[in-house]
Amino acid sequence: MRKRLKWAWFTAVLISLMCGTHAFSAGIPELVSGAMKTLDVSKGDPDLLVLTNAPYVKINGQSALSFLDQAQGLTGCTVGKGNLLFFQRAQNRPMRLMLFKRSDGNAVIISRTADSWLKEALSLSEAAISSPSFWKTVKEDFKAGSDIFTLAAMANVWANQGPYDFLKSAELHNHICPGLTSGYLMSRYILNHYPLKQGERYTVIACPVWCKEDAFQVVLDCTPGKRGLIVKPLSKEQAAKVTVVNPAGFLLIWDKKQKSGKGVALSFSFDRLKALSSSDMPKAATVLAALEYLDKPGLFVSTAAEFKLDEKQYNEMMEAGNNPYKTAGLWKDGFD
Ligand SMILES: [Zn+2]
Repeated sequence: MRKRLKWAWFTAVLISLMCGTHAFSAGIPELVSGAMKTLDVSKGDPDLLVLTNAPYVKINGQSALSFLDQAQGLTGCTVGKGNLLFFQRAQNRPMRLMLFKRSDGNAVIISRTADSWLKEALSLSEAAISSPSFWKTVKEDFKAGSDIFTLAAMANVWANQGPYDFLKSAELHNHICPGLTSGYLMSRYILNHYPLKQGERYTVIACPVWCKEDAFQVVLDCTPGKRGLIVKPLSKEQAAKVTVVNPAGFLLIWDKKQKSGKGVALSFSFDRLKALSSSDMPKAATVLAALEYLDKPGLFVSTAAEFKLDEKQYNEMMEAGNNPYKTAGLWKDGFD
């Protein structure tokens, strides 16, 4: 009797779970198939990109991965082919799953909020997103408007064969902007000019702090949790006392066994990055204008100073309460 009750309970739970799952995922196959029709693409088309925040958001407290799994099956887009990309969002944000066609820049954005599905078709071609008028009304014109900057810039960087590690940086940062671009260029500069020798490790001191920090985490694996990225904001008053022009932080190279290392103060010229596009160009288009320069970091990044580090200085550069510019002697005299 007890066994039977147990089974009845188990079956009831199973049925309710299955119904729940079914109700939850109903709609995505039709929506994705419809989007593929709208875009005139078929499964496995290398011209097709799926860009989504599904790995990060939750819908009514549940994972959205089942939707992603179905979209992968229908589109043939995969991480391995480089045409399935993600962008991080807070868990309570709406799920977005965009299908984007490289050849004409057309897109369909599928959104899922707590209780409804929505599909919006629009052009995110380079021409469309380069027009200032597009950005003036996009937030009112589309329900997915708040995510369209993220979607448009990432999709067009992908369409223009942007480097994969740049797109991976964008996944973490959840958008591509001139600030993230500067971090990517600095990472490339570091790898080119300061390759690690055996036994050495990098630590980046982010000071001042801006969007660039998220590129270091992806390209250099310098993460705060592994003490590879120390984040120290500079106030306006402090920034005025730094003697480095266009200060962008420090790279520390440390050999734990030898207990010796090197500090590098880095500069980044935003003026040079801005000069690549006209002043009225929308942000998404300025990102694209920088693409062909991503392998020329030396045009924007420079070494302002290099200095030797002993163990005491190395620790001082990183510890709370210490100003790394003072430790490095790159601070105006006569001020505290
Ligand atoms: Zn940013």
